[in-house]
Amino acid sequence: MTMLCAQTRIALSDPTSVLHPLCEHLLEHEAEVSEAGGVTTIRLDGSRAELRLEAGALAILVEAPDLARLQGSKFAIASHVVEFAPAGAAPVIRWSGDGAEPMLPPDFRVLSVTGVEQLTPHMRRIHFRGEDLGRYDSLEALHVRLFIPPVGLPEPVWPMIGADGLLQSPPPERRPAIRKYTIREIDVAAGTLAIDFVLHDDAGPGSAFAANVQIGDRIGMAGPGGRGLKQAERYIFLADETGLPALARMLEHLPVDAMGLALVEIADAAERQPLALPEGFELRWLHRDGAAPGSASLLTDALATLDWPAGEGSLYLWAACEHAAFREIRAAARQYLRPEIDAHLVVSYWRAGVSEEQHAAEKRKAA
Ligand SMILES: Cc1cc2nc3c(=O)[nH]c(=O)nc-3n(C[C@H](O)[C@H](O)[C@H](O)COP(=O)(O)OP(=O)(O)OC[C@H]3O[C@@H](n4cnc5c(N)ncnc54)[C@H](O)[C@@H]3O)c2cc1C
Repeated sequence: MTMLCAQTRIALSDPTSVLHPLCEHLLEHEAEVSEAGGVTTIRLDGSRAELRLEAGALAILVEAPDLARLQGSKFAIASHVVEFAPAGAAPVIRWSGDGAEPMLPPDFRVLSVTGVEQLTPHMRRIHFRGEDLGRYDSLEALHVRLFIPPVGLPEPVWPMIGADGLLQSPPPERRPAIRKYTIREIDVAAGTLAIDFVLHDDAGPGSAFAANVQIGDRIGMAGPGGRGLKQAERYIFLADETGLPALARMLEHLPVDAMGLALVEIADAAERQPLALPEGFELRWLHRDGAAPGSASLLTDALATLDWPAGEGSLYLWAACEHAAFREIRAAARQYLRPEIDAHLVVSYWRAGVSEEQHAAEKRKAA
């Protein structure tokens, strides 16, 4: 196998004091670290790095089978060298070899809008074209981060990996807003994908982009992320409109003999959309009928009426919805599921009254 290769020599007043915490930290991130003959070897996600202590410097050589893993390893090492270097002594890092020129991050793609479909009054499907989409075609990781450029910018500016191996963000006034969305459809051979956007009041960059989209508009996409569909003998899915694209995609890919229940909260009957689901599945639409999104307890009320399984047979519960319902569903899952055979994934997809940035900051604080 041909390996890509990059190297750097970073001047440091005390390289040992950087190398040790760097290794300890990467061990926590599932790296394998070994030391022999004065060379520290770090194996991380298919890449291999050799680090040598020199007088007043750390010499690093990284090898990986592809650019994504090479850049990932360069980033992991460079960012931790910066983190563990003495305060006030920002190390100068310059990689040579493969991937040395500034480039888009390997998990980043530019997408162009090719079509728009109004699925329901508040759900708009946007079709995109992009290159090299293979890594995004996975039921193990359904969501992506979309980079939405500020309105009116003549040319979008994307984050780049610099010559130091670190991510360079565009200046604040040109920086894209980042929002999480789900890939609803993808055709890697055709280079196309589709994303379903909820059009909501108090629109932030995500909803506003969808509301005003024009053919040819460009956004960025990074990822994918998230956790995938688990095998189980019975499923319970709960979603509001934001979780509906992921739910619909999972339902389409379940085995034909899968059994379960899908509860979907929507504004009203006009928001229903046809879903392909296995025969052994029941689908219940729950209408808010005038209540504001995020204010109704329809999902948790419906969940409270269910018979939780006893005895044999595994259950997988998946939920994606507004934060208040997420908290209740997570509490119910923890109370009623049997840890030895059941599994669950309950995620807050948005929080009423706060933007995605504030919501993400709250989640980080809680974690
Ligand atoms: C893993 C993941 C996958 C997701 N997939 C999708 C998807 O495929 N499609 C999709 O539409 N959304 C999806 N979401 C939800 C989406 O990221 C949020 O709704 C996001 O806040 C929308 O960004 P915005 O810029 O429109 O609004 P923001 O700037 O984040 O918020 C502005 C205001 O709008 C409110 N708001 C945000 N979302 C809604 C909503 N749905 N209804 C009513 N008010 C809202 C906020 O509370 C805030 O007051 C997903 C979220 C996650 C975490």
